[in-house]
Amino acid sequence: MYIELDAVFGNEGAGKSFDYMFTLEDEMIVSPVHVSGRVFNKTGIVYLEASAEYELSAVCARCNAPIRKQVSVPLAHCLIAHAENDEDDYYIVVENMRLDLDSLAAEDIYLAMPSRFLCKESCKGLCSICGADLNLTTCSCASPTDPRWDVLKQLF
Ligand SMILES: [Zn+2]
Ligand SMILES: [Zn+2]
Repeated sequence: MYIELDAVFGNEGAGKSFDYMFTLEDEMIVSPVHVSGRVFNKTGIVYLEASAEYELSAVCARCNAPIRKQVSVPLAHCLIAHAENDEDDYYIVVENMRLDLDSLAAEDIYLAMPSRFLCKESCKGLCSICGADLNLTTCSCASPTDPRWDVLKQLF
């Protein structure tokens, strides 16, 4: 969705609310992205305060268990009409007074997305020898710290 910002940039105290969905083609994002929030002009500076919510589908990096969860990414930016020197991700230059909110939300979603997921922080993962899910069971494989392994290693 594009948001027209002439009126917001031009008037102190002016604002616009939005609440809509758009689709992001990504196998990990399995629901439409729900964006809601507002842009507002506070003492001549235009801010964006919103959130983007979606359902994430991934697999645990340790045990391969499927993960499904609702993710909410905050979108907090200062919108500026012209590029300035001290730019960073917080400052968004709005071309022609039109904000491409879908693109901005997508950028923030990917910036916030971790490179790997765990089903839980304490996930024990799979045994590297027999593949047993160590969250559910224990196996009788020797652990790598078992001294018997050192003897085996010497044989190879
Ligand atoms: Zn796991
Ligand atoms: Zn095992």
